[in-house]
Order: sequence, then C-alpha cells, then structure tokens
Amino acid sequence: MATTTAEVVIIGGGIAGASIAWHLTSAGCKNVLIVERETAQGKGSTGKSMGGVRAQFATPVNIQMSLYSIPFYARFDEVLGHPSEYRPQGYMFLATKQAHLDYLRANFERQKSLGLTTARLIETQEIVDRLPQLRHDDILGGSFCSTDGFVDPYSVMTGFTACATEQGATLWKNTEVVGITRDQQGISGVETTRGTVSTRRVVNAAGAWAAQIARYAGVDLPVEPLRRMLVPSEPFDAFPHSAPMVIDMSTGFHFRPEGRGFLLAWNDHEEKTGLNTNFDPAFIEKILTHAADRVPVFENLAINPKRAWAGLYEMTPDHHCILGPVKAVPGFYLANGFSGHGVMHAPATGKIVSDLILHGHTEIADAHAVAFERFAEGRLLHETAVL
Ligand SMILES: Cc1cc2nc3c(=O)[nH]c(=O)nc-3n(C[C@H](O)[C@H](O)[C@H](O)COP(=O)(O)OP(=O)(O)OC[C@H]3O[C@@H](n4cnc5c(N)ncnc54)[C@H](O)[C@@H]3O)c2cc1C
Repeated sequence: MATTTAEVVIIGGGIAGASIAWHLTSAGCKNVLIVERETAQGKGSTGKSMGGVRAQFATPVNIQMSLYSIPFYARFDEVLGHPSEYRPQGYMFLATKQAHLDYLRANFERQKSLGLTTARLIETQEIVDRLPQLRHDDILGGSFCSTDGFVDPYSVMTGFTACATEQGATLWKNTEVVGITRDQQGISGVETTRGTVSTRRVVNAAGAWAAQIARYAGVDLPVEPLRRMLVPSEPFDAFPHSAPMVIDMSTGFHFRPEGRGFLLAWNDHEEKTGLNTNFDPAFIEKILTHAADRVPVFENLAINPKRAWAGLYEMTPDHHCILGPVKAVPGFYLANGFSGHGVMHAPATGKIVSDLILHGHTEIADAHAVAFERFAEGRLLHETAVL
C-alpha cells in the first residue's frame, strides 16, 4: 500500500471530527484526511445523541463555547447549505430547592456578564402558565433561555463533512487507525488498515474510544465511556409539542418533544463506566416513575422498548472537554471528553481546534481552561449542571 501524505489527519468522523475538518478547510488548510473505522459516519455517540443545545452553563468556558456554537447553528443552513434543524424552543430548568435557585441565579449572572442576552430567571407562575401539565407544588422557580433548543446531530455532521470534502478534505470510511508513529520532532504518521499516512499533525476525535488513540501516541488521556439511555414515547398529544427541554432539578429527569411524541432522559447514577451500549429494559420503569412524578399525564405515555436506545458519553474527571495540543507530543491534538455536550459544542470545538492548529491561539474561548495539561497542573474545572 502506498503512503499517503496529509497536512492534518483527524481520527474519528463524528460531529467533532467533521466540524474540525470544515473549520480547517474553511481557513485554507485543504489537505485534511478524516479516518473513520465504521462503514458510515454517526455510529459513535453522534447518532445516539438527544440533540439538545444550550448556553445555560455554570463555567465561563462552557458558556463561551455555546455563545459561538448556538448562533452558528442558527446560521448553519445559510452558511453551509445543509440543514442543522435548529429549533430554538428553549431549555427550562425547574428548581425545587433554595440551593437550585441560588445556583441558577449565579449561573444567570455569569451568563449575562459573558454576553448571553436570552436567558432569564422565571417565577413559578410563569412555569405554571406555560406548562400547566407540570406538577408544581414543590417548584420554587427556574430559568429559561429562548435560544437554547435542539438540532439534528446527524444532519449537522453530514453537512460539515459534505462541505469539508468540497473544500478539499478526504473521508476514509471503513478504515481503522491502529497506531501512531513519532520521531524526534513529534508526530510523524498514522497507521491505518488502509496503510500508513505521513503527517505532522493528528487530531484525536475518537469520541468514547479516545483513550485508546491517545495510548498509540504515548499519552494517558482521562476519558472514560459511560452508557446513557434514551426512551422515546409513542405519539402523545396531552403535552405541548412546542415545549422546551424541561429539566427537573430534583431528579435530573429531562425531556423534550420529538416527532409526535417525547424523548425522555435521566442520568442513572448507578451506571458504571465501560463500553456497554445495550439498552436495559428495566430502565423504562425507572424513568417513567420520574416522568409521571413531574408530569402526571405522562402516566399515559406509551413506550415501545424496541425504539429505546443507549449510547456513550465520553466523561472526563471534571466533566469538561479536553481541547488542543498535548505539549509533550508536538503535533498531537485532542478534541475529546465532551461529557455529554459534544453536539452543542461541536461548532466551537471545530473553531478552537482549527485555530490552535493553524495559529496557536483562539479568540472565541479560554482554551487554556480546557487544555490537557490542566489535569497534571491541578486546574480542574467545576460544572455541576451535568445532563
Ligand atoms: C444518549 C446520549 C444523549 C446525548 N445527548 C446530547 C445532547 O443532548 N446534547 C449534546 O451536545 N450532546 C449529547 N450527547 C453527547 C454527544 O452525542 C457526544 O458528545 C458527541 O456526539 C461526540 O462526538 P464525537 O465526534 O466526539 O464522537 P463520536 O460521534 O463517537 O465519533 C467518534 C468516531 O470515532 C470513530 N473511531 C473510534 N476509534 C477509531 C479508530 N481507531 N479509527 C478510526 N475511527 C475511530 C468512531 O467510529 C466514531 O465514529 C449525547 C450522547 C448520548 C450517548
């Protein structure tokens, strides 16, 4: 097999790899190769996602990444000529403790100071007026952001890829990366099941499998896969389809309209890390208990277990992504550990990683905060609003 040469090799053709490829080729770096081991893109976490996008975060870097990404999704169709299916129906957080209210207020102040103008704190009465189907006896208030909402992750991924390939990138499907080579200068190539690629720059965008790729480069990456399950309902009209993503802070149960029904999610704290992606039917009863507790009419939701699914979050110790160069291995870049936010932050990820590769700095967010070296330097971040 002949040796191929690329300016940048991106390992993983999910939404992160696709966005990086688009941002690189848009900035003039044309010889970009995406290597994807599956026969089709989207078989990793991207195709399993709930598609929620929000700017209502606690830490500046997460807010900054959303402030780039959400307006990007709003203009996606216009700029790329492909649909993102962005639907700004909002995210509504429901607080049931004073600590929740204090937390939402502190977040709101931080979001406002960073330039988010569409988030606000809301009274219980507004929640009741808007969604009278919610049980509200314990709701103390909440927050709402009108530009939060949903996108279609698969459509975004394929849109980014199609445009990136029009701009010069190449996508190798059905090709697994099996090794990374180094010399005195740093990265020297990537070994794949299609042969060796000679390159000085490699981006690890391998999602839940990122730690293995990092090992090939001699890097110990703290990213662990964690199963997350989603349960779609059958068509249901007793709750408005114009509803936002609703987050019950008392349990972490959240849901949003999807098609003619609703998509239900809940973070089971008993879940153990690992690559298990089997859907556990026992989860349905657990989640329906939380659902009916907050939305009594959901007692009548019909569920077809065959339509439910599981995928993998890529968790880091501080639940923030890891972006940018690994200083000890020149030419090795990370776009990993999104901890459940890889779709909403994909545009910012592409911009930040592309800026760091091409210019060594970025204007759109504090990349230092999410650098790999933060773990060794003890600069862990603290984000409690983990969905
Ligand atoms: C149930 C669920 C709900 C979610 N909901 C949301 C949400 O509402 N909002 C949100 O923002 N995020 C959400 N997420 C998280 C989001 O889906 C992920 O963070 C995001 O898709 C990560 O994208 P990625 O491109 O990094 O990874 P992936 O999409 O997993 O892509 C990585 C790719 O790398 C490939 N790969 C791995 N190893 C190799 C190799 N050796 N050689 C070649 N290719 C390789 C894989 O095949 C895969 O295609 C959810 C995730 C799950 C599971």
